[in-house]
Amino acid sequence: MSKGAWSLAPLGLFALTAFAQGPVAGDGDLYIRVIDVGHGNAAVARMPATGESGERDHHYLVYDTGRWEDWERQATLEAIEQVVPRSDVIDFMVLSHADMDHIGGAAAILGAYQVDKIIRAGKKATVFQSDVAIWEETDRAIKAESAKVLDLSEQDVPAGTRFQFGETTLTLLSGFAVPPEEWGELQPAHQRNAPTIVIRLEFAGRSVLFTGDSIGCRHYEIDDCDEPIATEKYMLGNSDSVEIRSDVIVAPHNGSISSSSPAFVAGVAPEWVIFQSGSAIYELPRTATVERYIRAGVLPSRILRTDRGDHEGPKEWPQGRIEGCADVPFDDHIDIVITASGDLAVGYSQPNPPPEQSCN
Ligand SMILES: [Zn+2]
Repeated sequence: MSKGAWSLAPLGLFALTAFAQGPVAGDGDLYIRVIDVGHGNAAVARMPATGESGERDHHYLVYDTGRWEDWERQATLEAIEQVVPRSDVIDFMVLSHADMDHIGGAAAILGAYQVDKIIRAGKKATVFQSDVAIWEETDRAIKAESAKVLDLSEQDVPAGTRFQFGETTLTLLSGFAVPPEEWGELQPAHQRNAPTIVIRLEFAGRSVLFTGDSIGCRHYEIDDCDEPIATEKYMLGNSDSVEIRSDVIVAPHNGSISSSSPAFVAGVAPEWVIFQSGSAIYELPRTATVERYIRAGVLPSRILRTDRGDHEGPKEWPQGRIEGCADVPFDDHIDIVITASGDLAVGYSQPNPPPEQSCN
């Protein structure tokens, strides 16, 4: 190679960095987009299958549906439309639990798409009036849809239950209408969150874990979690028969320290961690939570967040912080691609926007 060619290399690298996009999915790959809905959860997956006459086909999963304001619903729907053509059917929709930052977009998605099957916790929201209103609207939208509904308040779906979509296997790891009695006394917020539906996707020997608002620790403000509780304890207890180990985890409860107990993190042993957090009042993801993953061997460069640049306060993980920044939603989607041969790539779907676009 000539000296001239070498001197071009840095320029080429710069160009790649400046215009880098997320990993690109081929037709036969599993493609997941973790949507930047702000504080809440929503993800969409395109799962490859082979059609009846041997042609390439796809199935689609939506795991939680983001937040409830009209503009948030619209933006969540647009992010889903980039993955699921309007003319296609959403094969499976998971509504992890009744909180409105998880079911908020469901009515809009049900209005826009035919949805084949829905699994929901089913227990009505009762604590906050706004939650109740969104829950009732979602309930009406589900009932108006001709979807097959698995309602955990009407039937048990045991841990280990599998759903097959083409070459992708979904396994339910936990999911209840209300916390089982043997989980013991839980504070009110834990009672709402702990029954959350947890799903593990497996494709080509690789796996991605969606944990919703799983609970694993007693405290929200004290970093003391030697003994896991609730959802995480339950999944660890089953892990001999229902695998929890996963290459990628969408970390529970937006990165709160009441989840991601050290024992659970060790059991999952992820290579990549995604925090679905936004600019709210909670200072998530917490540094204390992120450090549990780093102590378990996860490289900081493999920890991604949907609130790049955010600066809520001193307890929030400072990686990428822009002083005084309240990160705007929908600019930090995270894409996961697993190829048929088992190669895994995870990355932001677009370059980090400049602060004037990324921060309020
Ligand atoms: Zn919740």
